[in-house]
Amino acid sequence: MLDSNYFHYTAATLHCDEVSLEKLAATFGTPLFVTSRRSLIESCLTFEHAFKELPHFTCYSVKANFNLTVIRTLAELGCGCDVNSGGELYRALQAGVAAEKIIFAGVGKRADEIAYALQSGVLMLKAESLPELRAINQIAGELGKRASVAIRINPNVTAETHPYITTGDSKEKFGVDEAELAELFSLFSEFPNLKLVGLDMHIGSQIFDPEYYVAATTKLLTIFKLSKELGFAIEFLDIGGGFPVTYDPLKPATPIERFAEKLVPMLRSLGVKVIFEPGRYLVANASVLLTRILYKKSNHTGKQFFVVDAGMTELIRPALYQSHHEIQSVKLHEKTVVADVVGPICESSDFFARQRAIPAAEEGELLAVMSSGAYGAVMGSNYNGRLRPAEVMVNGSEVKLVRKRETLEQLVENELF
Ligand SMILES: *Cc1c(COP(=O)(O)O)cnc(C)c1O
Repeated sequence: MLDSNYFHYTAATLHCDEVSLEKLAATFGTPLFVTSRRSLIESCLTFEHAFKELPHFTCYSVKANFNLTVIRTLAELGCGCDVNSGGELYRALQAGVAAEKIIFAGVGKRADEIAYALQSGVLMLKAESLPELRAINQIAGELGKRASVAIRINPNVTAETHPYITTGDSKEKFGVDEAELAELFSLFSEFPNLKLVGLDMHIGSQIFDPEYYVAATTKLLTIFKLSKELGFAIEFLDIGGGFPVTYDPLKPATPIERFAEKLVPMLRSLGVKVIFEPGRYLVANASVLLTRILYKKSNHTGKQFFVVDAGMTELIRPALYQSHHEIQSVKLHEKTVVADVVGPICESSDFFARQRAIPAAEEGELLAVMSSGAYGAVMGSNYNGRLRPAEVMVNGSEVKLVRKRETLEQLVENELF
């Protein structure tokens, strides 16, 4: 059981802060994402506290959870944003984040997105290749602007995590190889509309061992030294995101302080501002996905299934990464049964748990899929004609609907026929 200060049993009913999840489901229906504002705030303050000795700037990675209220909550605590597309830039701006606190990333930026970022006045664009630098230089010239850019380095560090979320390995598509950097630096004289202000990396996600950061940062520092020798005035060293969270109480995440202990001494006295881009760390454990048990069934082998009203269209992580999410019943049950918890989608990969001890809840009861705040709603889809769920944010005893449930009309509104 993943008990926290923010999702806990009171009177044998799972609550978010002071609000019963039973009540939320009755009011807003299911599936429903429920976010604890206090949990969000605590994650952010814990992160900031760990790195307080380091001149730094935390850019929340919007792709983990792009709900406007989530972005705004973190922005109010001082975070900037790391965005990955024109759409995420629009969201961050709509949430009220100042453009000069936004950094624009992405392995394949289109010309219109580059222009949008430049015209908005973002802090910097992170370039991932020479052709992209050429494109930014040209577009900046056309707009009469000088673009602040960072180069994303591929440090060739293979962090031990799920293969789909390791990004700092040289066989992956991300960043510029070390070997090409000297040449790339030498070409900057051909880019009058670019100002190189940062060096950047992001080695992956859900990385438990701080040594991967140490190895990658060591490489980044070598490149920083080279850039200084070449006369570049780098202002920002961006270490990326990837800091881990606990999904499974049996596999607790390395506390953020262990990362800070290693990184702060390496980065403290360089005369630059360090940028962090945490996504998952800030939001994963702040939300649950609330779902109702539609049917309990078993097959001829005696295998049990809980068929619930949420599926991979709301939370694809189990299907995509075989990731573990704790499943708790909203009504507390002492007994468990070994079962699969599956959704209504026509795919065998549509499951939340397989052959796991699940609280012995009855049909019609509610389950909470825990730790659903990161890469949950943002990866949702309309597959199978599904309507995107509602989202609420809880603050103590206060509840706010922060995203309305999609309607059938919205499902077809862009189609012409
Ligand atoms: C996804 C991503 C992040 C955030 O990763 P988390 O594991 O959620 O912290 C940060 N920076 C970049 C460039 C990313 O692509």
